[in-house]
Amino acid sequence: MNPIHFPSRPIIGLTTCRKTLAQKIPMDVQAVTPAYVDAVVAGGGAPLLIPLGLPEETLSTLLGLVDGLVLTGGGDISGERYHTEHANYILDVDDDRDRTEIYLARECLSRGKPLLGICRGHQLLNVALGGTLYEDVLNLMPGAIKHEYYNVMPREYLAHTVEIAADSQLAATLGQTQAQVNSLHHQGIRDLAPGLRAVAHAPDGLIEGVEALGYPFAIGVQWHPENLYPTDPAMLALFRGLVTEAERARLAYAG
Ligand code: MN
Repeated sequence: MNPIHFPSRPIIGLTTCRKTLAQKIPMDVQAVTPAYVDAVVAGGGAPLLIPLGLPEETLSTLLGLVDGLVLTGGGDISGERYHTEHANYILDVDDDRDRTEIYLARECLSRGKPLLGICRGHQLLNVALGGTLYEDVLNLMPGAIKHEYYNVMPREYLAHTVEIAADSQLAATLGQTQAQVNSLHHQGIRDLAPGLRAVAHAPDGLIEGVEALGYPFAIGVQWHPENLYPTDPAMLALFRGLVTEAERARLAYAG
């Protein structure tokens, strides 16, 4: 029998989170929700999960294996990372995950590999580059609408619109300057990091999309496209865009 040779797909790293399985004897696992895996596959990539708890030396090796990176959603970033004044609003912190992802985000940029930050990942990109967060948008941002539908509505529930700058890479990738998005976050970007550009906004003015200036593809979105891509071609295009750039990064490294 002849072996089947498949064309090699760009490898997209996915960051993970810690969960504890509730069972008779609780068990710790590291995980991603399957939607991220499925979205990367639908976009043409080969997903590779990056575990937590590794020294930078090992993370550096793993980053060398991937052609692009998705910073996935999850709990809040520690307020110590941006000198919080409202620590009482901060929930579900994992210091090791913060350390891991901040290293990966900075190193991914420095190697010129494409990066897509989703929800927490969008906020992480901002914090990694020196920005700050609203510890709780509803309570701390004047005029805020409701953004927190986590565990309230299905993840694909379309909560609000976003307006996207026409001259942005995000608009070019989505193929549109407006989108209906889900909203599963209670935090958001307050002060934008140097080197980032705000390219999408919710109706209340909250920054819902960012791009790192001077990099081939480094985009953060505050919504969850991995829950929308099955029915919204623009969200699928975002993952295809990441994979296309990853392919380009791979060829650049090989060359
Ligand atoms: Mn939102």
